[in-house]
Amino acid sequence: MKEYLHFCDIQKDLKEGTLTCVERVQYHLNNITRKQHLNAFLTVYAEEALERAAQIDKKIKTGTAGKLAGLVVGLKDVLAYKDHPLQAGSKILNGFISQFNATAVQRLLDEDAIIIGRQNCDEFAMGSSNENSAFGPVLNDADTTRVPGGSSGGSAVAVMAGMCQVSLGSDTGGSVRQPAAFCGVIGLKPTYSRISRYGLVAYGSSFDCIGVFSKSLTDIAEVLEVIAGPDQFDSTVSNEPVPSYSTAFDENKNKKYKVAYIRETLNSPALQKEIRETIISKIDALKADGHTVEAIDFPLLEYILPTYYILATAEASSNLSRFDGVRYGHRSKDISDLQSLYKKSRAEGFGKEVQRRILLGNFVLSSSYYDAYYTKAQKVRRLIREKTKEVFKDYNFIIMPTTPTTAFKLGELTDNPLEMYLADLFSVQANVAGIPGISLPCGNDANGLPIGVQLIADDFREFDLFQFSRVFLQMN
Ligand code: GLN
Repeated sequence: MKEYLHFCDIQKDLKEGTLTCVERVQYHLNNITRKQHLNAFLTVYAEEALERAAQIDKKIKTGTAGKLAGLVVGLKDVLAYKDHPLQAGSKILNGFISQFNATAVQRLLDEDAIIIGRQNCDEFAMGSSNENSAFGPVLNDADTTRVPGGSSGGSAVAVMAGMCQVSLGSDTGGSVRQPAAFCGVIGLKPTYSRISRYGLVAYGSSFDCIGVFSKSLTDIAEVLEVIAGPDQFDSTVSNEPVPSYSTAFDENKNKKYKVAYIRETLNSPALQKEIRETIISKIDALKADGHTVEAIDFPLLEYILPTYYILATAEASSNLSRFDGVRYGHRSKDISDLQSLYKKSRAEGFGKEVQRRILLGNFVLSSSYYDAYYTKAQKVRRLIREKTKEVFKDYNFIIMPTTPTTAFKLGELTDNPLEMYLADLFSVQANVAGIPGISLPCGNDANGLPIGVQLIADDFREFDLFQFSRVFLQMN
């Protein structure tokens, strides 16, 4: 079959009748079978996807098909898809079936996208390596001894290995951008509140954001345009009008931008040499292309990660209290009273990392430590957001690494949770500030592992981010 990078080319051929949706689904199903060892999918909806593809092929013929007709999408196992299993990579949700569609999923379906399956991820989206899944780790297709990143590891690998055209993931502290960087694909986390969280399993509700993976920037723009915007089921969604993101590539091809980079990010001892060199060469190329790139200081940098881990665990401990073995999911067999039902169901159902986060969250919220940790972290978060937004008074974008290193080895950091948390060093700023960020693939290191470069922008600047990302990807 002809190789396609962009969905718009697929769509052209679908319309011309030289390609069918059924063929497209079959192509991805073949890749899923061929690459089964990567463990990217938890459930594949093969028959259903083929049936739906056949129906959409008919619609295309009659000219009644939606905007995303023929787009084959995979869903991270944190997004509700009616009548399909949803487990957030956890045993505690064994047997749980979604009773409704997440708003983002509904909007994709309304435009005739085809959902091909449910993708593996870290349990409750907590992790940076996909090793916290109750269903085993996902392997990186660039080197199967290495992690794909997390928590949306299955979603990144699925795009990387051609198992679907686009994946939806979630990004609370980097879970779309970090695996995108490790897998050499593009990953966007939009502004907090750009996309409804209705039907997204909650981790840290003030950070959680649905994000999009693809190898093609235009695919991501087209999908965002469909899934973003107000929703009656999520009162935190912004009413900010949704621009026609897919037209971002038609205009302003020669616009020159002002870009900042944070000196401390490039000087960080944790940063792998080749990633630093990649960013420096990108900065040089941008300057040569007529853009302004300047170094800035961001003294709060070292406080971002601790702030994130205090607030995200606090919110997680509260969000996860609903999984108690009473109403749905796993219930321990070995119970004597209500207390033991709660305790044993949760102890058996949740994995180690989730338990650690619940304990940490309860600790920072406990009455003796609330002010010292939780209240303080809230204040620091506000400062980080203000200082970050100040940068955008003078600059359009900040450029930084997505990750300190390229994909690490499976098992390398599992015994060292603190080291694992450091993998999020550069991704959490966008979440703590609530602003959009994108990870763009930028070559490989000496081991052939993908390198990701991150661009972040002010609130609701996704349109500009798309335009600049295109410039960026076209540069050498
Ligand atoms: N790795 C981060 C964490 O474990 C981010 C996770 C995410 O964005 N869902 O919290």
